Amino acid sequence: MIKNVLSVASEIFPLVKTGGLADVVGALPGAMAGIGIEMRSLVPGYPAILQAIRSKKEIAELDREFFGAKAQLALGEHDETGMMLYILDAPDLFDRPGNPYLDAEGADWSDNHRRFAALSYAAALLGRGLDKGWRPQIVHGHDWQAGLTPLYCRELCPAAATVFTIHNIAFQGVFPAELIEPLRLPPSDFALMGYEYHGQIGTMKAGLFYADKLTTVSPTYARETQTPEFGMGLEGLLHTRRQDFAGIVNGIDTDIWNPANDDVLSATYDAKSLGKRAVNKTALQRRFALQEDQNSPLFCIVSRLTEQKGMDMVLDSIDHIAQSGAQLALIGTGARAFEEAFIQATTRHPGKIGCIIGYDEVISHQLQGGSDAILVPSRFEPCGLTQLYGLRYGCVPVVSRVGGLADTVIDANDAALEDGVATGIHLGSIDSQGLRQAVDRAVSLYRSNPKWQTIQSRGMTRELGWGKAAKRYQGIYEAAFAAKSIT
Ligand code: ADP
Repeated sequence: MIKNVLSVASEIFPLVKTGGLADVVGALPGAMAGIGIEMRSLVPGYPAILQAIRSKKEIAELDREFFGAKAQLALGEHDETGMMLYILDAPDLFDRPGNPYLDAEGADWSDNHRRFAALSYAAALLGRGLDKGWRPQIVHGHDWQAGLTPLYCRELCPAAATVFTIHNIAFQGVFPAELIEPLRLPPSDFALMGYEYHGQIGTMKAGLFYADKLTTVSPTYARETQTPEFGMGLEGLLHTRRQDFAGIVNGIDTDIWNPANDDVLSATYDAKSLGKRAVNKTALQRRFALQEDQNSPLFCIVSRLTEQKGMDMVLDSIDHIAQSGAQLALIGTGARAFEEAFIQATTRHPGKIGCIIGYDEVISHQLQGGSDAILVPSRFEPCGLTQLYGLRYGCVPVVSRVGGLADTVIDANDAALEDGVATGIHLGSIDSQGLRQAVDRAVSLYRSNPKWQTIQSRGMTRELGWGKAAKRYQGIYEAAFAAKSIT
């Protein structure tokens, strides 16, 4: 029986978040606790984490030369959530302002290899029993930042089973081969059948090669990543390992995301009182300087502003959206050119297009609670969370038919509408024209209430919590452990 699992990640909600990874890593411990598994998380000692965990116990002083930094491993409980966190407190590596991955200019921190190799190495030390009071049976790493974990585990704690989860295969953490020695990697494994990736060190590749079991965050993405179109060079390896590779759709935290008692909304509501959303819509229209008009369908976007997320397609379609009598409210950050283009669109269409360039958790809730629909026209999407929040909030998702978007949103075609199972709208094709057609379909459905309300309330009654996923992870942990015992 699996009782103890160590989760290793570079971000964790509510302490440090740049995207969906943090939401998942922050929610898993609670979900696993519900089925009798104690999950602790190992995270970097960023300022935000050290400040939030006030009472910490020192577990170990790591040797002075720990990846060129003085480091200490501490254990603390996060009061608000009860999460148990191992913190790699290494000021040289993590005590810096701003983004976990990027400097003030938006470039990768030049020592990211060292920072996240150190995190991965510390995970293996915990796997070996560094904390005398608690030892994991499973070490579960997330994304490239924890990609070297299974390899270090093989070296340091061969008895622990390892699981590796891909949250986005587009970020692979590839570094020059000269770093093999400083990163304490075994030179003999620098090979095709190892962590070598086109002559360099592939940290995500290492995770995929050495972990006992692999997962990603939706069944469709698990299939897609085995193809050249989506696998970004790792499709062959994933296809070879397909027996060990599963797709598990993320849950959402249904307490944090609950329109019935979300105190940042002007009006709370549930599937039976959708009319109350009007108050939230008006508040949003004010906030985003849009015309206060209940009859204009209000689309929102909560997103990184990148091509992955289809933001170029949105920009191409923005005049069309404004001319169709709809409105768009956007919050996001990303590429400077996208940010500027969205700001420019607001001046072209005053009262119809509103945007906030920034990152704000409260506004993201308010957008879900007051907009009529959320646009997620991603080119690829491992799972996607904003469409799940949309379902929960009656903010109808308009999505590309890829990855987790395809797995979680049922298109409102005639048959689905008739059967009452539709929960959103799929783009017919992932391009600007496909987006415009999907927007038009949404506008016309919106205008044909009560169909729209049926779609909204169907989404709101979907089971979106972590229950199902937690059981699937448990199964993966058991299987990883069993595989380890056999070999
Ligand atoms: P990804 O991790 O690829 O960025 P996801 O949909 O999986 O995409 O997760 C994005 C998460 O980040 C969601 O919780 C979403 O609400 C949040 N988010 C994205 N951009 C913003 C923003 N500008 N302000 C607030 N929350 C945001």
